[in-house]
Amino acid sequence: MNKNKGLDHDEQLLFEVGDINKTGVDLDDIDNLDQMIGDSFSENEIGLAGLSEPETIRHYVRLSRKNYSIDAGLYPLGSCTMKHNPRLNEKMARLEGFSDIHPLQPISTCQGALELIDLISSWLKELTGMAAVTMTPKAGAQGELCGMMAIKQALLDRNELNRKVVLVPDSAHGTNPATAAFLGFEVKTIKSNDKGLIDFSDFKDNIDENFAGVMITNPNTCGLFETDIVKISELTHKSGGYLYCDGANFNAVVGKLKPGDLGIDAMHINLHKTFSTPHGGGGPGSGPVVFSDRLEKFCPTPLVKNIKGDFILVEDSSEKDLAKSFGRLNVFHGQMGMFVRAMSYMLSHGADGLKQVSEDAVLNANYLRASLSSHLTPAFDGFCMHEILFSDDFLKDTGVETLDFAKAMIDEGYHPMTIYFPLVIHGALLVEPTETESKQSLDHFINTLCDLVERLKKDSDSFKAAPVFTPIRRLDETQAARKPVLRWKEEPLIAV
Ligand SMILES: *Cc1c(COP(=O)(O)O)cnc(C)c1O
Repeated sequence: MNKNKGLDHDEQLLFEVGDINKTGVDLDDIDNLDQMIGDSFSENEIGLAGLSEPETIRHYVRLSRKNYSIDAGLYPLGSCTMKHNPRLNEKMARLEGFSDIHPLQPISTCQGALELIDLISSWLKELTGMAAVTMTPKAGAQGELCGMMAIKQALLDRNELNRKVVLVPDSAHGTNPATAAFLGFEVKTIKSNDKGLIDFSDFKDNIDENFAGVMITNPNTCGLFETDIVKISELTHKSGGYLYCDGANFNAVVGKLKPGDLGIDAMHINLHKTFSTPHGGGGPGSGPVVFSDRLEKFCPTPLVKNIKGDFILVEDSSEKDLAKSFGRLNVFHGQMGMFVRAMSYMLSHGADGLKQVSEDAVLNANYLRASLSSHLTPAFDGFCMHEILFSDDFLKDTGVETLDFAKAMIDEGYHPMTIYFPLVIHGALLVEPTETESKQSLDHFINTLCDLVERLKKDSDSFKAAPVFTPIRRLDETQAARKPVLRWKEEPLIAV
């Protein structure tokens, strides 16, 4: 059956398109291959699908046309900070001295790259007001792991590993409790109050002699600034614990406040959010972690050091500075390409430009808030930070649910916002426009959402049927999550 639509082709899997007997390259046989690779040598075919060059190109170009991207339109995923990645950053990342280096080459031959790591480190320390930074974590989630490992190491150093309890607010991103649990901490949830902020008395009540620390997102996932943060950090330190901050929402405050001034001990920064580097198809991201002077000596190796203009990599934990380090987090030195893009972004904005980034991001979110609140239901009163959270109250008695509303947006040309997160709000819709959207683009989005809300009363059935214009319509998302099919195995290419 022909499933092509418009000029978009239905695309089969590589294994269905390709043929084991076909190849796009013409290479001479290698002599004595079996002797060169020893035990790994196999007489059997390995069953990879072969394609000619034009077939390969078409396969990937067709797949790429099914991708939605920030280059194609507004991407309002709350918490993800999907902002435009300036092409200047791409140009810089492709400079040979950055893109063609190898992590094992002699450091005398990659001084420029090390200098860049040193430079971005100093900018991140300056922007956050923190004592130290480690550049190696490859995503926010791994940054959390890194920060919490340093906290665990500090507790070990104090001989206080009996402190096992990590407090996490109920609005937190799932990676926070997952990280703490992974490291063997016991996670206790603290409540949010009716303003969407941490309930300070619940926080206080949960502190006892087993308190190791607390993981807080600020601004939080409701798009609100945690106004009790200084009280929280003071009580945390007085009680012998550490304050981890999930810095995924740094875009709301970059250039405006320094997390170090709030008493934070460790915080990851998602370069792929705040500093515009691409999120990629699941990677690579980059999640550097900044540390307070309380945790500085426990952070992982390696460190780049500037010794009178010579850059060295300090990797050996017998070095004085690193004697208490928890060791190595990753094999190598981090996501170089992302460092270059983020550095290019920082230098082209300058300190004043970065401050304007957060001001414009907050302004755009509040413009959406003000313009949409006659049609959707803001979850909390008052101004928001860089994202606006709605509850599903506006869908009441329509039979339409948040998921249906999100699917209907796709037919109108919009990637949905983040939905059903944070969990503290029923049927949540979390919208983050970022600073790179123009007023014209925001107005079009606002009008589209308002029209959809008006259609709710007239034709709620159409929401259940959406999306109708996509190559594949409603997916069984539960089934996909519970029983993912990750392996192609029908009709193997190798005759058995
Ligand atoms: C994105 C995000 C994370 C995780 O970051 P990754 O880079 O995706 O691993 C953690 N917490 C919050 C609040 C986030 O938005």
